[in-house]
Amino acid sequence: MTKRLVGVGGVTLGGGRVAVQSMTTVRTSDVENCVAQILALEEAGCDIARVSVLDESDARAIAQIKRGVHIPVVADIHFSAKLAVLAAESGADKLRVNPGNIGGEKELARVADCVKAHGIPVRVGANTGSIEPYFLEKYGRSAKALVESALSEVAAFERHGVNAIVVSVKASDVRMTVEAYETLAARTSYPLHLGVTEAGTPRSGVVKSSIGIGALLLKGIGDTIRVSLTADPVEEVAAAHEILRALGLESDYAEVISCPTCGRCEYDCMGLAERVNERVKGVRKHCKIAVMGCVVNGPGEAKDCDLGIAGGREYCVIFEKGKENVRVPREDAERVFFERIDGMTGINP
Ligand code: SF4
Repeated sequence: MTKRLVGVGGVTLGGGRVAVQSMTTVRTSDVENCVAQILALEEAGCDIARVSVLDESDARAIAQIKRGVHIPVVADIHFSAKLAVLAAESGADKLRVNPGNIGGEKELARVADCVKAHGIPVRVGANTGSIEPYFLEKYGRSAKALVESALSEVAAFERHGVNAIVVSVKASDVRMTVEAYETLAARTSYPLHLGVTEAGTPRSGVVKSSIGIGALLLKGIGDTIRVSLTADPVEEVAAAHEILRALGLESDYAEVISCPTCGRCEYDCMGLAERVNERVKGVRKHCKIAVMGCVVNGPGEAKDCDLGIAGGREYCVIFEKGKENVRVPREDAERVFFERIDGMTGINP
């Protein structure tokens, strides 16, 4: 099925590049903090930020927020066509709405006319908590119910002439999420927004999202992702990029590999690996850096790396493409290694 392209501000969904999304956690009417949070998300590499709109002050704040940020802003609205219209008039680049709770056909028509007039898309879709009662009763809490519910929302907007639509079917259960998106992908050509909902705190949330989102992306399903975590949204963006990188869908970054260490390791390999990761997190070109536990096996195990370090009791070896380049006393090793990294990546810390 040929994918439809949907533009969200300057970001195109459906064109092959997977966009990273996150959502602010402060009140949208708190413009200063909301802008600060979106700027932090931008810095972390977020492509699209979503904000919740609970009342008119939130909807109006979008105009001010847009002036302070550089990425598209999506307004998340429930139960109110009036707020949806207000958010669009304030400059929202997309609306996340649920046609089922917007207040009936007349109100839905109002939202549809508004998004068409502003040339912005909508995201519709179900999660396990918002399946339309009819489908919930018919299919139970299941992937089928999610898909049918989401497609009925798509149809509701299509009836009103809207064809810039993004769809999601999120469950907190990984298997149900994957099954639902697989079915959905076969039945719609609209871009899909992937996520495992209520995934949890960082450790379990990242694992659930990586499996669910990762399984789908591996099959070529998904156009934009959100890793939902009960945490600072910057962590969601960091996790999303890790997923894309692990799948080879993003390559303009410094990949740091490090060995798990074992009894042969005689220096602070774990700490150094963390510090190297921190050092290179802003690098936007591809290179591979290794932090290895011992000089016996490290250089050989990491010979495909552009630059690496392997530690010993008294000295460390810095190597390039598996070949020893320089041997440095252990106390100078980190400084020398960082100089090499900075030189190679062009970082200017
Ligand atoms: S590189 Fe050395 S320290 Fe690291 S796992 Fe291999 S043998 Fe162990």
